[in-house]
Amino acid sequence: MDTDLARTWVQAIAAAVEKHKDHLTQLDSAIGDADHGVNMHRGFSAITAALTDYKADTPGAVLVKTGTTLISSVGGASGPLYGGAFRAIGKALDTPATDPRQFAAALAAGLAGIQKLGAAAPGDKTMIDAYALALAAVRQQADAGADFAAAAVAAADAAEEGMRATTPMQARKGRASYLGARSMGHQDPGATSTALIFRALAEAVV
Ligand code: ADP
Ligand code: MG
Ligand code: MG
Repeated sequence: MDTDLARTWVQAIAAAVEKHKDHLTQLDSAIGDADHGVNMHRGFSAITAALTDYKADTPGAVLVKTGTTLISSVGGASGPLYGGAFRAIGKALDTPATDPRQFAAALAAGLAGIQKLGAAAPGDKTMIDAYALALAAVRQQADAGADFAAAAVAAADAAEEGMRATTPMQARKGRASYLGARSMGHQDPGATSTALIFRALAEAVV
């Protein structure tokens, strides 16, 4: 990932969020407070504006700026969780990363940030369920000697699998956990936006 790809990735996320905003909000209306699409849209609109005149020399600078803007513009749980993740990923990418192994290390720092703040584990029906599978896929691709583009596609496929796997789960973190067993049978909104984020990367990389 170089500086241009980081920018293209963030722009692709913003476009995907714009397109799927209503779907994200619908999912959140079933097991939350019906604002996930609104939150993500507010955040990524602010990021698009913030990056327009922002001179970045490294991919990390773009991603740290993305994270900082999410934290300051999104009030919901997803703002600080994604914001912290993008900041951590960015801090680990102060030089361009062409090797999927470097990118896996950056993604691992992002996951650690989400878990430090939100204390969720895989199986709790959160964004972690999509993110952790995406990270595992990038690691697996790195071990197999795959290039960055192949790793990004594998990450997107794995994130979507993780997203779908949240449907039968009972939520143990976030607002959905207040519903107890009634949270079962609904796809998690945050896992859905995480899948959009990794699909955006796979599309940006080609
Ligand atoms: P809020 O719940 O504050 O309205 P959003 O609707 O924007 O925030 O985001 C909800 C999503 O955030 C959930 O679908 C879930 O994936 C994620 N989430 C909530 N709490 C946690 C947590 N503790 N750890 C990881 N992800 C979480
Ligand atoms: Mg919400
Ligand atoms: Mg909310």
